[in-house]
Amino acid sequence: YVELHDINKHFKKFHASKDINISIEKGKLVALLGPSGSGKTTILRMIAGLEQPDSGEILIDGKVVNNTPGSERGIGFVFQNYALFRYMTVYDNIAFGLRVKKIPEEEIRDRVKELLELINCEGLEKRFPSQLSGGQRQRVAFARALAPNPQILLLDEPFAAIDAKVRLELRTWLREMITKLNITSIFVTHDQDEAIEVADEIIVTNLGKVEQSGTPQELYKNPATPFVAQFIGHSV
Ligand code: ATP
Repeated sequence: YVELHDINKHFKKFHASKDINISIEKGKLVALLGPSGSGKTTILRMIAGLEQPDSGEILIDGKVVNNTPGSERGIGFVFQNYALFRYMTVYDNIAFGLRVKKIPEEEIRDRVKELLELINCEGLEKRFPSQLSGGQRQRVAFARALAPNPQILLLDEPFAAIDAKVRLELRTWLREMITKLNITSIFVTHDQDEAIEVADEIIVTNLGKVEQSGTPQELYKNPATPFVAQFIGHSV
């Protein structure tokens, strides 16, 4: 599981994360929900080791990981706008993290095949990202993040760049995939409907703080602050 204890982060004088306390159970799908600039991505990047907090502790499975390099935290990251390598095929994109780990090419072949089946993209391995639909690209980004078998999957606005109809399909698909894999997942969104429909738990952020966390029902029935009431209440 993932825990953040009293995390603070500044960018120069700007206080981007204020006394953040979060606890995420294993296998849960959690949404970090808040308006633009509320500090969601910063939290995700600190968990991934892409940013260092100024103070506080980050724990994964009970172990403090502040000084553990991101690459050794067992984390897969799906970036906003897919961030696939444009000049690499689907196969090479998915294989990337495995090659970095010096896994034998034969094993890589099996793993990529398995992942292509998981994302329903068999037969697309030779295509380049520009030859895929938005939904397919996002599935490939998902497979690339999952390739090294992470324990935790972080997704930054995974549906943002996708048109509305495909976005709905992709939400359902992601929900099913994550349940099947039983992988702890945290995704960033500013979309209340998305968080309510997809997440087991929602962490609401505002102005660098956590306003409230709980199940979608808890937040809807018992909002802790006027901000949560207004932010969550609008969508249902
Ligand atoms: P968005 O949905 O717009 O991405 P967010 O809730 O994810 O918003 P963050 O990206 O975490 O918010 O940013 C929180 C604040 O910290 C913003 O005001 C942003 O400008 C600032 N910030 C983030 N990264 C940096 C950085 N590297 N240097 C300076 N300021 C930063």
